[in-house]
Amino acid sequence: MLKKSSPCRAPKKKQSDQPRPAVFLDRDGTIVEEKGYANHISRLEIFPYSARSIRRLNRAGLPVIVVTNQSGIARDFFPESLVVQIHKTLKQQLARAGARIDDFYYCPHIRDDQCDCRKPLPGMLNRAAHEHHLDLTRSVVVSDRFDDIHMGQQVGCYTILVLTGYGAGEHQWHRKKWERQPDHVVKNLEEAVKMILKHQPHGTAVTKTTKKIRKAQP
Ligand SMILES: [Mg+2]
Ligand SMILES: [Zn+2]
Repeated sequence: MLKKSSPCRAPKKKQSDQPRPAVFLDRDGTIVEEKGYANHISRLEIFPYSARSIRRLNRAGLPVIVVTNQSGIARDFFPESLVVQIHKTLKQQLARAGARIDDFYYCPHIRDDQCDCRKPLPGMLNRAAHEHHLDLTRSVVVSDRFDDIHMGQQVGCYTILVLTGYGAGEHQWHRKKWERQPDHVVKNLEEAVKMILKHQPHGTAVTKTTKKIRKAQP
């Protein structure tokens, strides 16, 4: 079962028949410092550029959605309430800098649970697409882990690997094993956002008036 940390609310009514593109961000190593299992609120350390980067996505009209594996819950390293608390604090700290995260999804499971939401499985993306009326083939995944890039590739997202967190090591030592490379590899979230806004991959930054012709090739 997939759980999410934001308060439950009814999915938005479809204002236009066109599903929207979104930007999916990994949490640890992408928005905040990767610290292994973030088992205490004191370990939350937001990268200095994260708020201004997310704010730029907000201004471009792109929903920003966090998708994160938090198997520390299933492993009993920390309670689920801590993940909820961390997301609430992260949201508040970003809001102080004028940045908004539209929703958080997390997978509390380990692989043995055989859930459909543990990255690299795309369950969280599919659920977000359903709840927020999103077009995954015009959306972007940004992460420091190849597993997450692979998740995005499976559902047609444009993918950007950042070299923060585990990114530099994954890229240096493992990229030859990757069947398909990320669409871009950049230094950090700030560079990823520049890339998204400049190139509008999959017509990302084009909202309601987007024509079908702008849809990405598989
Ligand atoms: Mg990460
Ligand atoms: Zn799961």
